[in-house]
Amino acid sequence: MYAIDLSGKHALVMGVANHRSLSWAIAQSLHRAGARLCLTYAGERLRGMVEELAATAPGTTVLECDVTRDQTIDAVAERLTGEWGSVEAFVHGIAFARKEDLEGEFVATPREGFQMALDVSAYSLINVTNRLRPLLEKNGASIVTLSYLAAERAVPAYNVMGSAKAVLEQSVRQLAYELGPKNVRVNAISAGPVSTLAARGIHGFTDMLKKHAERAPLKRNITKDEVGKAGLFLLSDLSSGITGEVLYVDAGYHIMGW
Ligand code: NAP
Repeated sequence: MYAIDLSGKHALVMGVANHRSLSWAIAQSLHRAGARLCLTYAGERLRGMVEELAATAPGTTVLECDVTRDQTIDAVAERLTGEWGSVEAFVHGIAFARKEDLEGEFVATPREGFQMALDVSAYSLINVTNRLRPLLEKNGASIVTLSYLAAERAVPAYNVMGSAKAVLEQSVRQLAYELGPKNVRVNAISAGPVSTLAARGIHGFTDMLKKHAERAPLKRNITKDEVGKAGLFLLSDLSSGITGEVLYVDAGYHIMGW
């Protein structure tokens, strides 16, 4: 009998915007397993919402972190060094592309839109990992990021976010290789479509949900709680032999050839 007990472990979760966020589903699983949480929010606008969610998981720390501002990442590292001394689980659930770069032709993506999407959605995994390295290496952490099939297939309207996810998945492999000797594992969950704030920025998202449900072997869409369970698996000792992997939580959609 294997039980997942994360009591005494510290989990940093980035990318909770509201109760629909995939990161929040993973945070809830971690909390139920006994982990102590730190949630971060990107701007004052979201602070109240994140604090409200945090209140449902007693003992949770809430900090500001905008990944485009290195000083806010360093402030999180400093605070957690003082408060926790180590981080055993890190959830990276952050992505952003400008609305105008998710509309129209991918071929016309302007440089600043491309750089912004890649910076927030992919480079942030590398940068946060680096700036938190002593904390992550202390007891050998598990890191999980969130990706999507557009990393490897052409998906209408996904545009520059597909490029960002391709870079993100390769970064998972490179980080896994480099940090493996320190017993730090790095994996991605490639999730099927779930209605969240970020997903609603994708043109035709409702249609995408319908098509996924029709074509996926399980004949339905996934739930955010299924992402939460897979995240818990990857962040716990049950997955101790797994690193550099992309785990599909998509009701099997990606195996289909038509
Ligand atoms: P979400 O709730 O909107 O989460 C996205 C998060 O990214 C928000 O908390 C957002 O904060 C944060 N973020 C954006 N810019 C940031 C910045 N500069 N610094 C720090 N945080 C920033 O949507 P979600 O769908 O759960 O997205 C989580 C991850 O899952 C993303 O990587 C997404 O691509 C991935 N994913 C989603 C789906 C899906 O269908 N929902 C499928 C596959 C993969 P603000 O709101 O403050 O900007």
